[in-house]
Amino acid sequence: MKIKEILTVLEEMAPLAYAEDFDNVGLLVGNQNLDATGVLVCHDALENVIDEAIAKNCNLVVCFHPILFAGLKKITGKNYVERAVIKAIRNDIAIFAIHTALDNHQDGVNKIFCDALGLKNTSVLIPKQNFIRKLITFTTPENAEQVRQALFNAGAGNIGNYDDCSFSSTGIGSYRGNEKSNPVIGKQFENVQTNEVKIEVTFEKYLESKILKALFDSHIYEEVAYEIYELQNTHQNIGLGMLGIFEEPMEEEVFLQLVKDKMIAGGIRHSAFTNKKIKKVAVLGGSGSYAIKNAIMAGADAFLTADLKYHQFYEAENQLLLADIGHFESERYTKNYIVDFLRKKILNFAIILSEENTNPVKYL
Ligand SMILES: [Zn+2]
Repeated sequence: MKIKEILTVLEEMAPLAYAEDFDNVGLLVGNQNLDATGVLVCHDALENVIDEAIAKNCNLVVCFHPILFAGLKKITGKNYVERAVIKAIRNDIAIFAIHTALDNHQDGVNKIFCDALGLKNTSVLIPKQNFIRKLITFTTPENAEQVRQALFNAGAGNIGNYDDCSFSSTGIGSYRGNEKSNPVIGKQFENVQTNEVKIEVTFEKYLESKILKALFDSHIYEEVAYEIYELQNTHQNIGLGMLGIFEEPMEEEVFLQLVKDKMIAGGIRHSAFTNKKIKKVAVLGGSGSYAIKNAIMAGADAFLTADLKYHQFYEAENQLLLADIGHFESERYTKNYIVDFLRKKILNFAIILSEENTNPVKYL
């Protein structure tokens, strides 16, 4: 099995197009055309993790955080990033980072966070914008089903928990072909009016070239008439942060103790108690201070995230319980999810969970 085949499975888990623009995801180091010897899954691809990969004969390291983020101008081994990269290159080890592609996925980091706490009825906290496009095309009634199916197979027509979504209407299309034309219906220079079906479907914008290929391959006309629009709609299944509900509301102190236990937090810093019971909770694994307002607007009783500064605790405004549970802790089960996913998709292959603890923060 080639490394690139494993990367294809990782893209199935979370398309890289889901990542935020500022991010640096995908294959960061290495040659994807090499045969894979084993996969080591970790949170941070530090030098000790590369050592572990060497010891366990894994030439692909899949990490959550990208070790290369801001770019390198010199590679001399003067810091932890350069040392990890040098060691990986020297030992023919590829490094792949998934990061916000998995943060934004409905089954990703924040769903894993919600599941760990027992939160139900989850929904995305900040649905992604400018991610959905609409295709409109016109064809004969006889060709319509073939075109619809081809578009669905290419990934169009998914809305929330539904697939194969489209809208079709009928009308009269008209055209006249020139001397170079070869019309399916009518002849050159003939004014044709014919029954047509207008098909409308939405799709995630990164799929556009695949969708257009499916359209052209399945459509019977010489010239395929189509229109693509950018939609203002948010994508309800993709985005940062997640909301979830406890079946039974609980006191704030009980809630924080549950979070501490389930997420194995070294300590929790939190805003003043609101004296409300906790039922609806917003979570955002990693640095999530930017989402405090979203959590309040969503009516959450508590917001769990990490990397909060002193003044940001004031932003709770006594409207919710704001808690910083630690960056690593809030994302701690992500690597287990990646391992489980890969093991389900790739059988009889060494997919190993790293044993190195890469959390840079220690607690007294
Ligand atoms: Zn993080």
